[in-house]
Amino acid sequence: MLNETLSVKINKTQNSKIESVDWENLPFGKVFSDHMLVMNYKDGAWMSPEIKPFADLSMHPATSAIHYGQSVFEGMKANRSEDGSVLLFRPDMNAKRFVESCERMCMPTIDEDVFTELVKRLVDVDRDWIPEKDGYSLYIRPFMFATDDFIGIKPSDTYTFMIFTCPVGVYYSNPVNVKIEEFYTRASQGGVGRAKTAGNYGASLYPAKKGNEEGFHQLIWTDGVEHKYIEESGTMNIMFVVDGKLITPSEDSDTILKGVTKRSVVEITQHWGLDVEERKITVEEIVTALKEGRVSEAFGAGTAATIAPIAKIGFRGDVYELPAVETREVSNRVSEYLTNLKLGKAEDEMNWLVTF
Ligand SMILES: *Cc1c(COP(=O)(O)O)cnc(C)c1O
Repeated sequence: MLNETLSVKINKTQNSKIESVDWENLPFGKVFSDHMLVMNYKDGAWMSPEIKPFADLSMHPATSAIHYGQSVFEGMKANRSEDGSVLLFRPDMNAKRFVESCERMCMPTIDEDVFTELVKRLVDVDRDWIPEKDGYSLYIRPFMFATDDFIGIKPSDTYTFMIFTCPVGVYYSNPVNVKIEEFYTRASQGGVGRAKTAGNYGASLYPAKKGNEEGFHQLIWTDGVEHKYIEESGTMNIMFVVDGKLITPSEDSDTILKGVTKRSVVEITQHWGLDVEERKITVEEIVTALKEGRVSEAFGAGTAATIAPIAKIGFRGDVYELPAVETREVSNRVSEYLTNLKLGKAEDEMNWLVTF
């Protein structure tokens, strides 16, 4: 068994910061737990992993990740159930996606079971950092970046893999307003949209800022060729309920990030016997349905927000308002199920939880 053979050196902090945390008012992503995990790659192999006190990194100014962008990450959450055990939600899917991101970016991979085990080891050391308050979680950020100190474009020979965690509050406290973007592009066929790689997020900032200036929190991305098909919303997958049917863009093109949350929403709603379709969705289909009042729900799906209800959708200067969030049967049911499940309060019908 991996949990017996994988050796992780643990060096615990003498100065825990846990007493200084305001557990009632946690922002998202600004508070960091006491420890981090570090594992270096050189000469074609991973060195032994170490858990140590959370601290700054020191790096060479030519560190290649900074210049050439070989950098990938994951995002997942841990919660604690009433009996004190830690619950992870489908970590195997993050492990698998991490491998895919690494491959696309010419970076070494990490065995999926090792990835999950390393996440568990770090979370176990900082398990007291898992917040108790409703809607709060321990956000987990595994990531890898190229570390050669070399100026020139080629895959780095050395890398660092790390994990740190952040106790977090809610990501969006209100429904979001989004605009269908028809000029800027998040991802194009043959590009890196499917990889959770740093540059995708850097590139999305400018279009998102333009959208903010028009009063929208996020954009709905459309395909990079014709801007005809709906792809994602901000850094979430997008789902709609139209004529009582749950629909979401299919992942056939390599421009859509394969979200764990979205996959889980599809699987659980199918399991409940709801009408679910994963297929190409045109902007025209959605705009027509919005005009005719046939869109009863729209929401983003992602680990940070889980289910983020969309209040308004903007398109070419018009703004369409969706029904009140309280009336949304599908997203409310899914949201409640996933929230309860992640706290160990709902039956794990699909076998999604990893407990320790
Ligand atoms: C991370 C991410 C998502 C959501 O994926 P989850 O696995 O559900 O967290 C969706 N779209 C983009 C672009 C992302 O980076």
